[in-house]
Amino acid sequence: ATLPPKLQAAVDDIEQQFDLPTDKLREITDQMLWEYNKGLSELPTDETRDTFVPMIPSYIQHIPHGKEKGTFLALDLGGTNLRVCEVELLGDSKWRMKQQKYRVSDALKVGDVTALFDYIAGSVDHFLTEIGTTASEDEKLHLGFTFSFPVAQTALAAGTLINWTKGFECKNAVGKDVVQLLQDALDRKHIHVRCSALVNDTCGTLMAAAYERGDCLCGGIFGTGTNGAYVESIDKLTKMGYQADELERNKEQGLDKMVVNTEWGAFDNERKVLPFTIFDSRVDRISINPRKQAYEKMISGMYLGEVTRNALLHLVDSQVLFNGFSSQSLNRHYGLDTAIMSALEAPFVPNSPQSGDALTAIRQVLTSELGISASLIDDADCLAAARISEVVGTRGCRLSACAIAATVRQTGGDARDWPEAKKIIFGLDGSLVEFYPRFEQRVRDALRELLGDEVQKRVDIVLAKDGSGVGAALCAQAAQAME
Ligand code: ADP
Repeated sequence: ATLPPKLQAAVDDIEQQFDLPTDKLREITDQMLWEYNKGLSELPTDETRDTFVPMIPSYIQHIPHGKEKGTFLALDLGGTNLRVCEVELLGDSKWRMKQQKYRVSDALKVGDVTALFDYIAGSVDHFLTEIGTTASEDEKLHLGFTFSFPVAQTALAAGTLINWTKGFECKNAVGKDVVQLLQDALDRKHIHVRCSALVNDTCGTLMAAAYERGDCLCGGIFGTGTNGAYVESIDKLTKMGYQADELERNKEQGLDKMVVNTEWGAFDNERKVLPFTIFDSRVDRISINPRKQAYEKMISGMYLGEVTRNALLHLVDSQVLFNGFSSQSLNRHYGLDTAIMSALEAPFVPNSPQSGDALTAIRQVLTSELGISASLIDDADCLAAARISEVVGTRGCRLSACAIAATVRQTGGDARDWPEAKKIIFGLDGSLVEFYPRFEQRVRDALRELLGDEVQKRVDIVLAKDGSGVGAALCAQAAQAME
């Protein structure tokens, strides 16, 4: 299929807006490194909050090696569902897990925070009575709480909520200690569980990947939102105010590293380098958190489909796509789930004339998933729609690579004298990593441009699935071991 001239011109225009040449990628990565170092050395104030990424210390200083053992509970809040798990660490890099998902209603997401935590405690209660536990009855179960929102952590089991993201907007929560909120709710229901670790999902992903693979540098999420955590030297975490003798002592005790939760989703909220298009601005304006999470809104599952929807609507409104007609789904905010991008792009082969089968598959997605009437779609529409999805998604993948490249550079992974056999392991989780077609390939192409082929090859990307449950259990294990 070829595109009629007007459609071709309109698609070209969008492509150009979403294009990210190597120079631009470098500029973005440099800025990210600058923000990393600002965040490691300065605590944000109200004035500077949006000028650099928070770089939150996790207080996790023990990276698992795979021999850890015991039974722990894990709670995971911050994705699509609330998840309660019981994790049995077997001590040989393996685990067994029982889990149950609980739906968090939209009302709970924006209601009073006490209602949310009562619901969470109720879910733990339900899990313990209905799903059962393998741990002995007389011991208090330790729980690791994966809470995937920006938190100012003050200890392994204490931290206050900075702000909500991802569609949550509960009242009376910002500034409160979320461990205390959970423990109070558990205690109100007389549930024999102790929350002993507060874990960001990225830190959990890192811990789980380290338990499985050993020596993991960074845990990253590319799901509903995006964020990453990596292992940093404590002497670079200058905002923690360690004295020279403390640093020395920590080194002697093998505590010279700490996992840092970057909150890279908030990168460049000031829009210094990110390539905002009018479609991004629209997504941002109608979002629940305008002018926040700038980077996340170009990358993650919650928003990619919405950017694509806006770009497609632009073509419809320009009378060059679907004969100028839309559909209910395409008209609805968030009416194009990022999963639809995966479906559109799975049959699509970039830079090639599409086969008849591919066009049929794309047409099927447009009619069944987006509700576009079949009579409005010709081959050129199929080609254009898939191409727009690819353009938006490729920009997302290339931007994702900037965070990976910045983390490699920050930790010296681009050093010339790097041992040849040593890999830089990134444990990544999330639907985009798992399901989005050619995710790793697109990220790698950008990494090659940013770091060179030799360094790109050092980077190992492993799918660290379900890290938030196992990782939280590993943090609870670390907390228990320190008691
Ligand atoms: P979470 O980050 O919430 O724990 P996920 O990693 O499953 O969970 O991410 C969910 C997000 O991923 C949703 O925003 C959804 O739109 C998107 N998503 C779900 N399925 C797919 C898919 N097949 N391809 C791309 N994105 C997907």
